[in-house]
Amino acid sequence: MDTRKLTLTRKPKSKSKLTAQRRMANMSMAEDLPVENELLAEPICTVGPNQACKHSLANPELNEFLHIYEELIRSRFSAITNTLKTLSIYQHELDFVTHAKRIAFDQLHYELPLSLLEDSWISGLNLRALHSYCIFRSFKECVAKARFDQASWRECIALHTNFIHSCGYHTVNISPCADGRLQGLLSFILRLVPSEAIYVKSYAGAMFNIEEDIANWAHRELERLSGGLPGDEDKNYLKIAVYHYSSSNPSHQGCAAHGSDTERALESALERLNELRAAINNTYGRGAAPDILLIGVDTDIDSIRVHFPDANGDIDPDRYIDSGRIYQESIGMSREAARTYISDALNKAESQSGLNSEKGKMATGMRNLVLGLVEANLSQIEYVIHYHAGRYAVIGHNERFICAGEAMNELHLRNKFYFAHLNTVEEGAIHLDVGIKIFTNLNIKHGLAVPILVHYHYSSRVPGARERVIQRCRRVKAAIEARYSQLHGKGLLYCQMAISDKAGSERCTFIEDEIAEAGH
Ligand code: ZN
Repeated sequence: MDTRKLTLTRKPKSKSKLTAQRRMANMSMAEDLPVENELLAEPICTVGPNQACKHSLANPELNEFLHIYEELIRSRFSAITNTLKTLSIYQHELDFVTHAKRIAFDQLHYELPLSLLEDSWISGLNLRALHSYCIFRSFKECVAKARFDQASWRECIALHTNFIHSCGYHTVNISPCADGRLQGLLSFILRLVPSEAIYVKSYAGAMFNIEEDIANWAHRELERLSGGLPGDEDKNYLKIAVYHYSSSNPSHQGCAAHGSDTERALESALERLNELRAAINNTYGRGAAPDILLIGVDTDIDSIRVHFPDANGDIDPDRYIDSGRIYQESIGMSREAARTYISDALNKAESQSGLNSEKGKMATGMRNLVLGLVEANLSQIEYVIHYHAGRYAVIGHNERFICAGEAMNELHLRNKFYFAHLNTVEEGAIHLDVGIKIFTNLNIKHGLAVPILVHYHYSSRVPGARERVIQRCRRVKAAIEARYSQLHGKGLLYCQMAISDKAGSERCTFIEDEIAEAGH
């Protein structure tokens, strides 16, 4: 069941028309850096005179809200380059600082630090430092305004926490690849509303840390057993791993951590899931392990493959349902007919001949979850068709910064940042190295620095935690600067430390070196 095969057998469409559409999509995105476009395969559906590409189960209203959100977030980052170019023109004028502050405020809606403006008349503006500062500051703006920015789509998003509960799960812990193209996973690709019950922790190649996952599982199960999750006492914990691939350019634009080898990305993620189950069963007794689910994302078009488990909870990598194929086959059907079609397709995939066919079908809750995820993703496929000409104009990397440490739940958008979950740089080095490799192409090649946001959470309920988390940020920042000392020495690496309170309202407070040093 390969979408790639399907797309190749369909009638070829006018290439010049497609190129024009793509160029327009590129222009409207107003991204800063020149990027290479690839045109190797067809989109799932192309809007044309006789083709509206409207699936009865897609939600155009939700797509509209998400598109407004996407444009808003992109505009906060895309304004940076032009603002800095303007500042660069005026840097030697007498009233530069006043002028610069006004330009920044008009175009970016925040102020720039005086320390980066005042000495420009001597050795010129430090545009690299200003660029990194603006990237962090624009991100902070997105975090500060998240509630307001996201209010419209959070209201009407497809899969709420109640749905997760109705499928029999109190918690869903998702580990996607750290790749920036998966940063819109929750709200865009899976159409899941962010909540307390859903954790996202990204690792290069979806290679999550088993010991940490056991700790997360144990913590959540303890909360459930001690009455901390009222109403969810009889529910399960679900672990999902998300690998990714590129249907247009599978051997170059797939998962960098697995050398763009889709099979390897899939097998490695599944192996990790199985190891987690074995670890918990071996430690806490057979049957204690959480349920597992494996999802693959085609990052060119945001369709998903859901590799579902059998009655024993085991996943056969060859048994899956592909939402791209479902979209193509069920477009034009009524809502009811399309739902029946998806359900039949799942039955067929479940009972297909093979080694595991006799092992029995998955539980009803899991089945409902798989059906819900596939149906919800049809809207995202249509989103890419209508707002990105059927396939993203930039199918490769285009992230703005690296977030190292713990991610915030406040920004949901493809290619905004590469996220490396890490406790220490030694443990997370492999994830950071992949990020630095990506940014060598994206930024360093153009003379820009790599902006790294070192972010951790603390709990204001725990005495002394804030001070400790600041020390932790400082340790990680120093370790990053030491690991990439050559880049740091040349001014090609900027680290910004930030902290958020899990229990209170403090979000993404920037911690400056001198404050941390004063408390040292
Ligand atoms: Zn990857």
